[in-house]
Amino acid sequence: MTVEFAARAAEFRPSPVRAVFETAMDPSVVSLAGGNPDLSVLPGGDIGALASSLLAERAGEILQYGSGAGTTPLRDLVVHLMSRGGSNITSADVLPTTGSQAGLDLVTKLFCNPGEVVLAEGPTYVGALGVFGAYEVDVRHVELDDHGLDPEHVATALDELAAEGKRVPFVYVIPSYQNPTGVSMPAERRSELVRVCAERDVMIVEDDPYALLSFDRSGPLRSMHSLDPEHVIHLGSFSKIFAPGLRVGWLVAPPEVRGRLQIAAESVVIHPSNLAQSLVTAWVGSEQWGPALDRAVGLYRERWEAMNAALEEFMPERASWTEPTGGFFTWVTVPGLAENDHLLRDVIEQGIVLVPGSACYEDGRPSDAVRLAFSGVSPVRIREGVKRFAQIL
Ligand code: PMP
Repeated sequence: MTVEFAARAAEFRPSPVRAVFETAMDPSVVSLAGGNPDLSVLPGGDIGALASSLLAERAGEILQYGSGAGTTPLRDLVVHLMSRGGSNITSADVLPTTGSQAGLDLVTKLFCNPGEVVLAEGPTYVGALGVFGAYEVDVRHVELDDHGLDPEHVATALDELAAEGKRVPFVYVIPSYQNPTGVSMPAERRSELVRVCAERDVMIVEDDPYALLSFDRSGPLRSMHSLDPEHVIHLGSFSKIFAPGLRVGWLVAPPEVRGRLQIAAESVVIHPSNLAQSLVTAWVGSEQWGPALDRAVGLYRERWEAMNAALEEFMPERASWTEPTGGFFTWVTVPGLAENDHLLRDVIEQGIVLVPGSACYEDGRPSDAVRLAFSGVSPVRIREGVKRFAQIL
């Protein structure tokens, strides 16, 4: 039988992180590829006991079909979390999702026709490029600097696209500890970007899964959502602040948009897992969560310091890298690296995995940079990984 896929299937691209997942599981390989949270600070036994007691008390409700709107306690918890970034919302504004990846998929499905343009940071999150490709969206990158997106450059890009007659359904931004570069947008840039987009009636999709992970434990910066809830759709996630395996995230959007997104979500998943939502509510809503998150972020900070020290020790003089103040990633640029066509093969041969910079651009353009994740690896392994990378250079 000849298998004939829909045209859009040609745009489905494997994530370079998932593609090396098997390799990364090999214990002799140092994985600096995946942005994995460290789960060692979670009290494993307590989480197990929590699941048992939830099921013992409420099996009938948890194991039954639930509401597409998500559970009320989870939505209340999100209201509380979002207030940290300055958003003043009610639980009716929140839609729980099966992870922020799914949230981005729903938003793109709702707003983007094939051929329309989404503006995104250059470089941007590889998983977002997968979503945009699947909906045949044309991605234009606006290069970021050490402080994230420059609103002036976004304004210029939007005006040029308007002059070309192109519709831009939204600008996609990861403002805090960006994936893949680790850089953050300061407050002034956030408000300026919101102003630039609102003036042109273009929405912002703010993807903010790392917001609570600042190394100095200062609160999150004000979210762009808090500055203009009418023009900003906010995507949040429990993956980095609890457990990615549970697949729970959320989105916050104006009521009309949120209702449509819920209908779109119901046709895919009917509703997010009741058990996963209940576990998130019980753990993140407990008094133990804050101290556990502090311990986790303490580890990430130590790991970043180990990575920075290893980069200083092993990288050639011509290399440079970003200095994240939170989150999971740094972006290392080595002039001349783009000329290596076999980078991924070479690093795997050296026993490490990482994300090549070209994967973070829609057109896969040659890049002199790589993303290194320090969140899930011990300082000793980080040093070894950076040393092995330097050997290829
Ligand atoms: N957005 C960004 C910027 C991310 O880094 C990630 C995780 N790598 C996601 C979305 C997906 O997160 P989730 O597990 O909530 O689907």
